[in-house]
Amino acid sequence: MRRPLIAGNWKMHTSILEAYLLVAEIGKCAAGLKDRDVILAPPNIALNAVSRVLHDSDVLLASQNVCWEEEGAFTGEISPTMVKSAGAVASIIGHSERRQIFHEDDEMINKRVLGALKFGLIPLFCIGETLEEREGEKTFEVLEAQIRKGLAGVSVEDMATTVVAYEPIWAIGTGKTATKEQAQEVHAFIRKLLAEMFGKAIADSVRILYGGSVKPDNVDELMAQPDIDGALVGGAALNAESFCRIINFK
Ligand code: PEP
Repeated sequence: MRRPLIAGNWKMHTSILEAYLLVAEIGKCAAGLKDRDVILAPPNIALNAVSRVLHDSDVLLASQNVCWEEEGAFTGEISPTMVKSAGAVASIIGHSERRQIFHEDDEMINKRVLGALKFGLIPLFCIGETLEEREGEKTFEVLEAQIRKGLAGVSVEDMATTVVAYEPIWAIGTGKTATKEQAQEVHAFIRKLLAEMFGKAIADSVRILYGGSVKPDNVDELMAQPDIDGALVGGAALNAESFCRIINFK
């Protein structure tokens, strides 16, 4: 049985004070949820404040990206040990906004994944196709390349802790969700590929999240799919009421 996981990505939103107020609300409705994991990814500057609010809760924290080096001349980056010291246990890596806006390629994303694992962070490894790629029937080819390159060199043991997030780019922040059938089809494909690469036992235990306009009114049907183990939520994670409904999916 894979334990469901709902992750909220706040992107570049919230001041420290706003983050503090938002997490106080989310913390309340996450209390007592024993059969699922909840992870929040606030902006780095708010990680520590959020972590203090959550100190006696089961809600976990992630950074929105992470460098592969522990320290050094990497202006603007944050290291795995830094995010751990601020209270994070995981890092989102390879988000489509990093790939598209900041031109992070598969090789760099792979370095980040390996760096996170080396320092004991859980990678929330994101992949996804553009609308053009989907319409050109290239979805599976694109995802396979992202997975093979992004997870190159990851050991079977480390794959057991890694989380994959399938986020079709055309569904992120657009209000357009993949149908449950489209999402399930891709998740099953990813699991089959992971079985080829890491063995069936690992593939059966890896959590694969869906991301792309997950909302209170579509989370239940998505979570009912056999290969969808959770959600990576952007916009709806910035509203306590919406996010609370999502983490309380049925
Ligand atoms: C995301 O940023 O990962 C995301 C899925 O955003 P949204 O839920 O707003 O589509």
